[in-house]
Amino acid sequence: MRKKIAAGNWKMNTTPNEGKELVKNIMAGSPELKVHQEVYFFPPFTHLAAIAEVTGKQNFYTGAQNCSQHEKGAYTGEISTNMLKAIGAGHVIIGHSERRSIFGESHEILKEKSSAVIAAGLTLVFCCGETLEERESEQHYKIIDRQIKESLSHVTKDDMKKVVIAYEPVWAIGTGKTASPEQAQDMHGYIRTLLKSYFDETVASQTSILYGGSVNAANAKELFSQADIDGGLVGGASLKPEEFIAIIQALP
Ligand code: PEP
Repeated sequence: MRKKIAAGNWKMNTTPNEGKELVKNIMAGSPELKVHQEVYFFPPFTHLAAIAEVTGKQNFYTGAQNCSQHEKGAYTGEISTNMLKAIGAGHVIIGHSERRSIFGESHEILKEKSSAVIAAGLTLVFCCGETLEERESEQHYKIIDRQIKESLSHVTKDDMKKVVIAYEPVWAIGTGKTASPEQAQDMHGYIRTLLKSYFDETVASQTSILYGGSVNAANAKELFSQADIDGGLVGGASLKPEEFIAIIQALP
């Protein structure tokens, strides 16, 4: 069975103490996770060490929202994968639409970042997603294909075991507008066909694909019950303990 995952992307929110409290409340209020269920917390860099200390057990893990593509050196303000690993982060999000649009991260940079995450032995949570304009002009399949082809398809089949994909339509992120379960399922199914063509049948059937975009306690169950949706990457609702616990409870 594929892993079913609830991942919380906190973006630039909470202080370290607030973050630690949030994690403690969520872990205390969550049901015992089954072997195939995992929960990831993605706090800001400054909280990682403290939060990694309380996770790493009972299938709760801590990861970073970004990393440098470089190993070390004169890159002021950057954080390398080895630094993340050293403080207990096990996962890194790459390709979030905010990194693509606000920080101008190109396919090439994201390819290098994906490689850096894999080379460090960390789990890569690779995000892809189309804008509203791209969907309305029926470019969405092409866009997702391009994002995966350019920045992920170079990964070896074996390393794909350490990759989780998050499909996040940009028009649904932070907007309260969720893709319908049918729209999300359709794209997740398409992503599996891409994985089959870039890798093989095994990779296509074993890679967890999360949906992201205004997931909340009310819509999680229906989204997660779709055949190719293996959980969610959650922004706003991951900062509210009751909401995120309900999302965890909705994992199949
Ligand atoms: C996200 O930031 O990845 C996200 C999906 O945000 P939200 O759940 O708030 O739409």
